[in-house]
Amino acid sequence: MTIPAMDIPVYADVDVLVAGGGPAGVGAALAAARNGASVLLIEQRGYLGGMATVAQVPAWCPYTDGKKPVIRGIGLEILNEMKSRMEPEFQAIWGDKLNWVPIDAEVLKKLLDDKMMEAGVNILYHTFVGNVIHGNGIVEAAIIHNKTGTQAVKAKIFVDASSDADLAYHAGGQFAKGGDEGELQPGTMCFVMSNLDRLKYMEYVKEHGPSLKAAINEAKAKGTLRVARDWAGISWVNDHTAGFNFGHVFGIDGSKAEDLTRGAIEGRDLVRHIVEWLKQTIPGFANGFLVLTGEQVGIRETRRIVGDVVVTADDFMQCRTFPDDIARNSYFIDIHMAKPTGGMVVSHLPPGESHGIPYRALLPVGIDNVIVAGRSISTDRATQGSTRVMPNCFAMGEAAGTAAALLAKQGKRSSRGIDIEELQRQLVRQGAWLGEDVNGKFQEAVI
Ligand SMILES: Cc1cc2nc3c(=O)[nH]c(=O)nc-3n(C[C@H](O)[C@H](O)[C@H](O)COP(=O)(O)OP(=O)(O)OC[C@H]3O[C@@H](n4cnc5c(N)ncnc54)[C@H](O)[C@@H]3O)c2cc1C
Repeated sequence: MTIPAMDIPVYADVDVLVAGGGPAGVGAALAAARNGASVLLIEQRGYLGGMATVAQVPAWCPYTDGKKPVIRGIGLEILNEMKSRMEPEFQAIWGDKLNWVPIDAEVLKKLLDDKMMEAGVNILYHTFVGNVIHGNGIVEAAIIHNKTGTQAVKAKIFVDASSDADLAYHAGGQFAKGGDEGELQPGTMCFVMSNLDRLKYMEYVKEHGPSLKAAINEAKAKGTLRVARDWAGISWVNDHTAGFNFGHVFGIDGSKAEDLTRGAIEGRDLVRHIVEWLKQTIPGFANGFLVLTGEQVGIRETRRIVGDVVVTADDFMQCRTFPDDIARNSYFIDIHMAKPTGGMVVSHLPPGESHGIPYRALLPVGIDNVIVAGRSISTDRATQGSTRVMPNCFAMGEAAGTAAALLAKQGKRSSRGIDIEELQRQLVRQGAWLGEDVNGKFQEAVI
């Protein structure tokens, strides 16, 4: 059908519009506002945090390369401030840790609201970016839908942190998705349980090892547990409450509404099954209570933009440095099986090693004023299995937002018009880690 031409109100005209409030969007909005831009952050849910709060993903992946923090700046600030708002018992365990720190989604939601208010970011919740008005490689406005109706938001620079690269998609960008046969990593319906006994569980772990591997394999052999992988991610926020990243939902393309719907229904069904098994099987879990499942099935992989450069597994393995690095990644390649019968693909870098993420990987070919940050940047499939994790997304977002503000200040509408040294210097000043060489070069910026 053809929509008849319609006049719509312009809701706002800003320097920087950020679409999506996950880690990438949070990093982008805070960085852009702190660099003096007027910022509107649009999020379809009523809170920020992305997969951590939307899908209840229960832990932050490592911030370090095993020797030192690689993700610093805004990402580290959020991690540390979340910890500082947690109960003393949590702080006693996690206070000085930077890897696999559990997430309290409610603490995170409130913290992120507060951070946005402090920085002067305007937020519009319950609003979906459904399309763009564009021509000649420039996006003039995003078309937004919400309870008020359909409106437009004009901006000089757009940061696409929707994780599916929705803006770049509507602006006519080029994409890759999944593997050679279109296979995608599975989703997971994460969940939270309370009324558990952590101390009893820890006794069990001492004897049987972590991640419930032995119990899962035994149950799979008996046919009493229908999960594909012998691993459960369990993250304790206190002695009685834990978040679970356990089980897979296969064949879900998170950029399609009908797949997300199936993921929700199948995911909740699987969670009920798993919870019953946990209660019957695992010491300390017998009185467990299912508090909630994710509002949405967690999505690991959809579109990847084709950008000015594509970061490859070879770049990952060689720990390659690019002249326009805006972040570094040390997380391992972590590709979950696309089918129940498949295996995990995992590849680690040696401790202390990382590779660069170049600014060009954030720039969709053929589109000038959209910067993409987060899990849909321009990489091959293997590298996406690594760059996709939340600490990295904060860092990419911080770089995208900083670049957007610098460009807007200079009246530029082309992301390619950035002065890379100026961007890197500013990121180092903000506390980012871009590797020994770049941080060394701009050390004076920190003082
Ligand atoms: C099951 C699972 C387990 C994982 N485990 C870990 C882990 O242990 N540790 C870790 O660090 N990472 C983990 N990850 C990876 C990580 O959570 C995601 O890759 C990461 O959150 C991506 O960040 P992002 O900012 O790009 O997007 P997201 O976190 O997906 O956030 C995107 C945001 O944009 C909003 N949005 C999307 N489209 C629109 C639109 N058109 N208009 C308005 N708003 C929109 C969404 O509502 C969402 O809030 C896991 C992921 C999954 C699915």
